[in-house]
Amino acid sequence: MKDNYNRSITLHCETCGGTDFRHDDEDDSSPVTCAGCDREYLRSELIELNYEHIEAEKQEMLSEIQKDVKDDIKKMFKRSKWISIK
Ligand SMILES: [Zn+2]
Repeated sequence: MKDNYNRSITLHCETCGGTDFRHDDEDDSSPVTCAGCDREYLRSELIELNYEHIEAEKQEMLSEIQKDVKDDIKKMFKRSKWISIK
């Protein structure tokens, strides 16, 4: 699998729509603070609020992967001279 699938999903603040959050990377249970409006979220709360958005991004990622895989397979077949693909 290629590394660029490893992208992160952007979470949005419900109050100001900001995407910058301050959080302690060392501690998963620490709250997340919006850099735009200083609203504090629990990590789980923020993920829940962004659930639809996360699902949409996941679908997009999946279709991107599928497209890449298809392209790779096409390329692979093109390299084999005895198989022609229309
Ligand atoms: Zn905010």
